Amino acid sequence: MPLEHGLRRWFPRLRLRRRVLDLVTVGLIAALFAGATVLVYATGGTKLAWPYLMLVPVLLAAARFRVVGGILGGLVGGLLLGPFMPLDSHAGIAQETLNWIVRIAFYTGLGGFTGLLFLAIHREGVHRERDARIDSDSGLPNKVALAEALRELHAEDPAHSPLLILARVRDLAGIVEAAGVAAADELVRELERRLRAAVGEPARVYRFSASELVLLKPRPDRPADELIELAMRSVEEPVEVRSIPVHVELMFGSAGSGAAEWEPRELIRQTRVALVAAGEHHRAHVHYAPEHERESARTVELLGRVRRGLAAGEFELHYQPKIGARNGAAVGCEALIRWRDRSGALIPPGRFMPGVERSALIDPLTRFVVAEASAFAHRNDARTVSVNFTARNLLDRELVAALGAQLAEGGLGNDRLEVEITEGAIVRDPGAARAAIERLREAGCRVSIDDFGTGYSSFEYLRVLPITGLKIDRAFVRDLEHDQRALDLMASMIQIGHTLGLEVVAEGVEDRAQYEALRWLGCDVIQGFHFAKPMTEHDYRSWHEREFA
Ligand code: C2E
Ligand code: CA
Ligand code: CA
Repeated sequence: MPLEHGLRRWFPRLRLRRRVLDLVTVGLIAALFAGATVLVYATGGTKLAWPYLMLVPVLLAAARFRVVGGILGGLVGGLLLGPFMPLDSHAGIAQETLNWIVRIAFYTGLGGFTGLLFLAIHREGVHRERDARIDSDSGLPNKVALAEALRELHAEDPAHSPLLILARVRDLAGIVEAAGVAAADELVRELERRLRAAVGEPARVYRFSASELVLLKPRPDRPADELIELAMRSVEEPVEVRSIPVHVELMFGSAGSGAAEWEPRELIRQTRVALVAAGEHHRAHVHYAPEHERESARTVELLGRVRRGLAAGEFELHYQPKIGARNGAAVGCEALIRWRDRSGALIPPGRFMPGVERSALIDPLTRFVVAEASAFAHRNDARTVSVNFTARNLLDRELVAALGAQLAEGGLGNDRLEVEITEGAIVRDPGAARAAIERLREAGCRVSIDDFGTGYSSFEYLRVLPITGLKIDRAFVRDLEHDQRALDLMASMIQIGHTLGLEVVAEGVEDRAQYEALRWLGCDVIQGFHFAKPMTEHDYRSWHEREFA
């Protein structure tokens, strides 16, 4: 049985303690037998009620040593009150043979039966304990088992920490969506096998959460970097789940294995801090160092404030107009999030969105943006209102469905909402992006590629994605007036867009010369400070009235 084998290997102390306890119990049982014998004899023999006392050591033996203990105890107790114990010790009257033989049979039977009961109770307890230490979905030991193993290792050597590696499967949600929950469990089991084989015995792998595994290496023979290098190589080959090859990306945070005082819970916490740092620095692995602490505390604190701010209604959208290049008409606007904190100061998205985009908070935040922008579109006749989506938003089926529902419920016609997606988000998971974009288009939503030209992407996606627009990044607008190559590049990008039947937008247009150049190149829509900065809804209306009255 692997668990028991593991328990014994990891907890040698447990056996010693159990042996001492057994010896003490045997001593106690012997003393009770002797005491009861003496008492029965001294009080006048078996004719009185004292012989019942003999049941105490018999039951105790059954409790401790189960069936064998109960039967042996019953025999010993029965014999002690048997042939040599008189019926009346004062008068010297012996017992009838049948009497003590029946008593032995009764004691032995009772002892054996009680032993059986205790055995059943014990087995039930063992099952429960094992269940509490096992992740029922994958059959791997869970975090309770991990905590226990660490406590034992700590008891053995509190001055030298084991190596603990926390591995997170990057896109488990996507895998679950594509292949089902059972497939994810299958995947986790296969990862366990590969990781353990990669880092060499002795090592144990625990399932820490749905998408996280912890690898425990008590006495690593090489540095964490090298072990993780091996672990990463072990998942380079796709994992076969339900006969579908799945490419798995892992992210690692590690801690420990140094000659220093350590503490089990602290070690687990440090791996998490390291994993957060890995995410923040876009690295596959980070080994814990105290300076990661401050960063992670800052991020956690910021996310906490954003969560509370969202609940307290501290977020609002500002709207930046988009102008038709040919006729100067307002053709729509982009909704951009702002955070008005309690002091009334307006915090721009650059200060909080990078953290939010890496966390689950992006889901409620984007839902807020979609609801607000739809309501705005309903109240104002701005032709198309654009919202920004991140890579994670594209995996959120409900969000995409909600957008469709907003369009339908709000009585907004087709093309009144547009989603801007960066090239980077599409490149990260082209399959998911394509599915999401198709669903958005079916819902009557326009979809445009944001920051076009900066995403190191191939042009392949332009061929296969059903997008409606390209938004050329402001980096290409900056030098339009005095750089011929910038002008040529812009001309080519606009042409690519038009060849594919897409609406081309240029963003970050700050002066008249840039605007004229873009108009001359045939760009369709212009957005930038030259026309207007992002504004509150109130200011947007005043601006609109002033400009187009
Ligand atoms: P983005 O989507 O590229 O948005 C355009 C940014 O450029 C906005 O900054 C806008 O204020 C700024 N901008 C517009 N015209 C000009 C100009 O002429 N010159 C210059 N220098 N800047 C101009 P903002 O509002 O600070 O937003 C920054 C980024 O934050 C956005 O870049 C977008 O990536 C993100 N963001 C904003 N709102 C949301 C949102 O609701 N959801 C998500 N996921 N991201 C958002
Ligand atoms: Ca945008
Ligand atoms: Ca942009």
